[in-house]
This record gives sequence, C-alpha cells and structure tokens, in this order.
Amino acid sequence: MTTLTVDDVTLTYPDGGGRLTALNRVNLTVGGGEIAAITGPSGSGKSSLLATVATLIRPDSGHVRLETPDRAVDLAALSRREAASVRRSDIGIVFQQPNLIPALTAVEQLEAMSHLGQSWFTAPGVRRRTHTKARELLAAVGLAEQHGKRPAQLSGGQRQRVNIARALMNDPALLVIDEPTSALDTERGSAVIDLILDVVRAHHAATLLVTHDRTHLHQMTSVYTMTDGVLTPSRTAAAA
Ligand code: ADP
Ligand code: MG
Repeated sequence: MTTLTVDDVTLTYPDGGGRLTALNRVNLTVGGGEIAAITGPSGSGKSSLLATVATLIRPDSGHVRLETPDRAVDLAALSRREAASVRRSDIGIVFQQPNLIPALTAVEQLEAMSHLGQSWFTAPGVRRRTHTKARELLAAVGLAEQHGKRPAQLSGGQRQRVNIARALMNDPALLVIDEPTSALDTERGSAVIDLILDVVRAHHAATLLVTHDRTHLHQMTSVYTMTDGVLTPSRTAAAA
C-alpha cells in the first residue's frame, strides 16, 4: 500500500530583506488510490505545496514521506540528483498548462517521457512496449484516434488529457495535479476531473489535486483549505 505523509512542512522564500512563509507547518496524509483536494485563494501556497511534494522545491523543515510496497523515502531530504531520479520513476506531475512539445505527436509526448534518463540507445523490445503502453494510456483518456496529432491539432481539453496520460507513463506512486481545469470550460473541466477520478482508482496513485472547482469536491477522498500557508482539513478521509 502506498502512503504519502506531509509532516510539519515549512517553506519560506526570500522576500526583500526578510522571508515570506509560503507553507506554515503543513500536515497531510493521502493513500494510494485516494485524492486529497486542496482549495484556497490565489497566493495561499497551494502550488508551493505541490512543488515541494513533487521534489521541485526543498522545504526549510519537515518531512515528505512516500511509502510504497518497495521502499520508504523522505522526499524532503533528497539531493537534487536523487530527486530527479525519484521524479522520473515515482512521481507524475500535471500542471495547469500542459507544456507539450509542439513538434511531437500525442503518442510521442508519452514515449519521450519514458525515454528520459535512459541512454540514447533503447532496445527495440523496450521501444515497442513503450509505444504500446503510450497507445493504451491515450485510449484510456479517450484519445485513441488522436495519437498521431500534434498539440496545435488538439483542443485545450484534449491537450490536458495528453498531459494526464503522460504523467501516468511511468506508473507513478504519487500524482500531483495543479488546477488542471482552469483553462477549460465547465463541461470539459468536468470531464477532466472525471478522468482524474478514474485514473487515480485504476493506477492506485496517492494524489494531490489543487482545484477551484467546488462541484467535484464531494467525490474526493479528503478536502483541505489553504489560507496564508496554513493547511486546514475541511473534510478528512475518516469522515468521508
Ligand atoms: P497559490 O498556488 O495558492 O496561488 P503559490 O504557492 O504560488 O500560491 O504562492 C504562495 C506565495 O509564495 C505567494 O505569496 C507567492 O507570491 C509566493 N511565491 C511563490 N513562488 C515563489 C518564488 N519562487 N519565489 C518567491 N516567492 C514565491
Ligand atoms: Mg498556484
């Protein structure tokens, strides 16, 4: 069983002569196949929490424990090199803007993910398996027919689906998703949230989801509110 435990995490940024506290002793737990939703006003620290959990920023203090059946690691205590390796193998990241590579087709976006960190030579069998998996994931997000299209040929909602499929390419134990629907209309946004609910259950990833969309909060395992760097549970898994 996978569990992510954020334990008393504090993060500050330099701010003029002083420091700005972006995360103030934050605690949170989420298990595999569960989604902890995080809401809160702009500038309250939501993205900073996701970046910290995703090992992109190291906090001033506290622990970010990721336990999987294979191992337990404190994501807040890794070197840059270790963090990059853990991101490749264990963490799926979905940001608001898809950041797809314009020249690559949908299936190539996913394949490129898998080849990151590998040598320039990849055995044909591995390449075939990667291709098959990329096609399966695109089908799972409803884009079976669009695998050969480049980002410019896809709608905003379709690009966000490619983004989500790409984050699943390495079977992440941990998924962090930051405002995935903010660039989409309500209907497409709902479809993307439904997709996230499906893939999290299917892949058993421990998931943190930042969202402004209150209509879906009842479907989440737990709900937290961030205010000025302080995270407060609104509804916890136990009470769900
Ligand atoms: P949210 O995602 O809730 O809008 P953020 O985590 O992006 O909030 O930002 C929290 C606070 O930290 C804000 O005051 C923001 O200006 C500040 N901040 C975010 N990133 C940086 C950074 N790289 N350097 C300095 N301050 C930052
Ligand atoms: Mg943000």
